[in-house]
Amino acid sequence: MSTYDVAVIGSGPGGYVAAIRCAQLGMKTAIIEKYSTKGGTCLNVGCIPSKALLDSSHHYEDAIKHFEEHGIELTGDVKLNLEKMMERKASVVDQTTKGIDFLMDKNKIDTYEGVGSFEDNTHIKIEGKDNTTIEAKHTIIATGSKPASLPFIDIDKERIITSTEALKLKEVPKHLVIIGGGVIGLELGQVYKRLGAEVTVVEYMDRIIPTMDKAQSKELTKVMKKQKVKFAVSHKVTSVENTGDEVVIKATDKKDKEIEFKGDYCLVSVGRRPFTKGLNTDAAGVKMNDRGQIEVDKHLKTSADNIYAIGDVVKGAMLAHKAEEEGVFVAETIAGQKPHIDYNLIPGVVYTWPEVASVGKTEEQLKEDKVEYKSGQFPMRALGRSRASGDTDGFVKILSDKETDEVLGVHIVGARAADLISEAVTAMEFRASAEDIARMSHAHPTYSEAVKEAALAATEDRALHI
Ligand code: FAD
Ligand code: NAD
Repeated sequence: MSTYDVAVIGSGPGGYVAAIRCAQLGMKTAIIEKYSTKGGTCLNVGCIPSKALLDSSHHYEDAIKHFEEHGIELTGDVKLNLEKMMERKASVVDQTTKGIDFLMDKNKIDTYEGVGSFEDNTHIKIEGKDNTTIEAKHTIIATGSKPASLPFIDIDKERIITSTEALKLKEVPKHLVIIGGGVIGLELGQVYKRLGAEVTVVEYMDRIIPTMDKAQSKELTKVMKKQKVKFAVSHKVTSVENTGDEVVIKATDKKDKEIEFKGDYCLVSVGRRPFTKGLNTDAAGVKMNDRGQIEVDKHLKTSADNIYAIGDVVKGAMLAHKAEEEGVFVAETIAGQKPHIDYNLIPGVVYTWPEVASVGKTEEQLKEDKVEYKSGQFPMRALGRSRASGDTDGFVKILSDKETDEVLGVHIVGARAADLISEAVTAMEFRASAEDIARMSHAHPTYSEAVKEAALAATEDRALHI
């Protein structure tokens, strides 16, 4: 029987990063993945394919809507080749997942293909392409998540679909009705809107992206409405039925009136749930909480002393970079180090265009926590860079402590917000004040000047360009 210092179950961004860090720290490491390709949700049916489609559909939209204003005239018709767009996406996924095989080889990590299940807390049975049992001193559970649904919905994967099917549709829907105005609904909604679908988002809460700063919800709603996406917020979906070529969605609005939506596809994107099927956690003494997540302590240790859990299968944001940080954290903990994660400083991004990015506390959270704060905001439209590219929607908002000026939250809507948020994370990691950011030189012309200007506005209400 092969024996290891560490076995990792699941090869998503949590699992494969944990395995690499364990190997770097000199531990004999194995990784077990039930599918033939590694990389988990993120690389196969999540972050990477969705961003490939967002980028391709953005090019298409630019070609049909914006080339002309830049003085680019197309002589023939611009034609969408969805099959080719999907093939390109598949090839991006393929290259990226193969990269993980390379990294496993490079770091001398043994890989097993099959479902891993505990026999006890040191033995894991693998069933699938590989059939064997291995022994491990420590195990890291990184089994991720699957799409969640509502109890009355039958996801038939044909007309009533999750993100997994939405990433490989063979036709552009005529009308895509999306249940859930969160990250998946808005990103994939924008993809199909750009490709020509009518898109309606039905959201239970009174605003889309309800966990982000309210100003961001408002701005993104405004921009997406301009793009002709329809929104039905404060709507509680009560039934979803596939009637053949159509899906009928019934919901009640806040006045309790029944509203009916009809589309040829219905995307259910109401969150994800932790995945632990087949793990046989009981045999290892690993306990779950009432949300189906694996229960962990502050060291991400489960109720079994030598078993840890990370990523989507434990509490916290379901994000690839959160899973990665936890993978490194656990590997270093097993190696006897004392790592640290500041969960408040894990950024969140929605890859619509304009992008939406956030770190730290929202204005609503500061109010709830009764923290006295200052707010500085700067609109993207006041930047030369934004006018040059034509990306004038959005803003940067910086919230800082009223007394100390320490930056408490940064919320951005705008071109390349996903990259701009890194400056805010760095500043907040070093506990910078808004004035610290305001006094740093930012290259001109860049979108990052909006960060400096918002910091100036937060410091003394002295933004320079507005
Ligand atoms: P996963 O990536 O889910 O990996 C778990 C792996 O474990 C899977 O490969 C699974 O097959 C395997 N497994 C499960 N059980 C067993 C078993 N018993 N034996 C062997 N193997 C097993 N996050 C971002 O940060 N940015 C984004 O842009 C982003 N976009 C997304 C877009 C979509 C459409 C979706 C669905 C998600 C997106 N996410 C994004 C979320 C991100 O994909 C997840 O947070 C991330 O993949 C979680 O990583 P993980 O390692 O915890 O689990
Ligand atoms: P989400 O939690 O982002 O959004 C779900 C939305 O559905 C929420 O707005 C919620 O209020 C709404 N909702 C819940 N029940 C509803 C109901 N009965 N009727 C109508 N609306 C309802 O979840 P998601 O968009 O499904 O994404 C799942 C996970 O994947 C998220 O945790 C997210 O972090 C991750 N993800 C991240 C990215 C990214 O980082 N860019 C992209 C895609 C997915």
